[in-house]
Amino acid sequence: MQNNYLVVGSGLFGAVFANEMAKRGKKITVIEKRRHIGGNIYTKKIEGIQVHEYGAHIFHTKMKDIWEYINQFANFNNYINSPIANYKGEIYNLPFNMNTFNKLWGVVTPNDAKQKIEHQKKSFGLKGHPKNLEDQAISLIGLDIYNKLIKGYTEKQWGQSAKELPAFIIRRLPVRFTYDNNYFDDPYQGIPIGGYTQIIEKMLSNKLINVKTDTDFFKKRSKYLSSDSKIIFTGMIDEFFDYELGELEYRSLRFDTEILNEDNYQGNAVVNYTDFDTPFTRIIEHKHFEFGKGNKGKTVITHEYPQSWHRGDEPYYPINNKRNKKLYSEYVKLARERFPNVVFGGRLGQYRYYNMDQTIMAAQQAVKNEFEK
Ligand code: FAD
Repeated sequence: MQNNYLVVGSGLFGAVFANEMAKRGKKITVIEKRRHIGGNIYTKKIEGIQVHEYGAHIFHTKMKDIWEYINQFANFNNYINSPIANYKGEIYNLPFNMNTFNKLWGVVTPNDAKQKIEHQKKSFGLKGHPKNLEDQAISLIGLDIYNKLIKGYTEKQWGQSAKELPAFIIRRLPVRFTYDNNYFDDPYQGIPIGGYTQIIEKMLSNKLINVKTDTDFFKKRSKYLSSDSKIIFTGMIDEFFDYELGELEYRSLRFDTEILNEDNYQGNAVVNYTDFDTPFTRIIEHKHFEFGKGNKGKTVITHEYPQSWHRGDEPYYPINNKRNKKLYSEYVKLARERFPNVVFGGRLGQYRYYNMDQTIMAAQQAVKNEFEK
């Protein structure tokens, strides 16, 4: 049985793993290449406001046990994610619901809205299977919503025309025939009061855990690989193999954050810009995640610009197409053959778009695996 572990990456996966193993008496070293712990859920206080440095993070889950687990580390407020869309100055509620339909078409009852959508779908007259994302979206929701709320946003997000994007990206669209702006269906949702970084700090506070920031695994790779610690690697699996089989593809993002001398810039935490000509996809106004906390006369906003990924950029989103899935499975095979004692975990190690609740579950499973061998 292994007694020492080296966890590469202090994101949520690495922190949950380290916390649970230390509770079971194991000694853990966590190395992190950034200057701070927390991975992409890191938050930092600016002007009394918790700023989500790597993109807005809303905790939501269907799983009661995961909700109770995360609540050990922070108190959560009752924030409900209700983003709005700004299409050339017109404001619509998301996800698509009766408020959206009313604003678009003046319909008032769910029956009127259903009829309108059916009419929109029929007038498009798609025959056979949708060939691309555009066909797929219009066949699900009709032309008006597609043109104003889906097309521009999706094309900016993926950096490609909707006619070139595969249909499978939009399998279904959340459509609600109630006046309910709550984006998520999950029964548990909120934002940790005081931010996410405290959660990671508490997880890593056990005396058996030693944390080193500003420490890149690849700078002393052979030393780490030859030590007697078992490695839990939460960085990019393709980078671990020096891209030997080729690069997995990612989408990246650029965040432009600024402090404004006003109390309330946009009246909502999340505003999506759904036209193609506005170069950013969203503006986040962080104070609204905590119901307006922060210094008087100040607010912090972040513009999000989707980017293509090149080596050295932050790999925010895995791109789950056929090519990448195949390549990832080849890396997994290579890992089993050459490094059977290294566990690849988390969003980058497993090349999977995990939400936070799924990341916690995956890390808990990795802990179980250690004791079942
Ligand atoms: P990460 O947080 O990426 O942590 C990996 C860590 O490893 C990083 O700190 C990295 O610096 C470090 N590392 C990498 N390589 C090395 C190396 N060579 N040496 C040392 N350290 C290394 N989930 C939700 O539930 N709700 C949301 O609203 C939500 N919003 C999101 C918005 C964005 C923009 C993104 C990108 C993700 C969002 N998520 C959300 C998902 C959430 O961020 C993840 O579930 C979670 O952060 C994954 O944790 P992780 O530890 O796997 O990865």
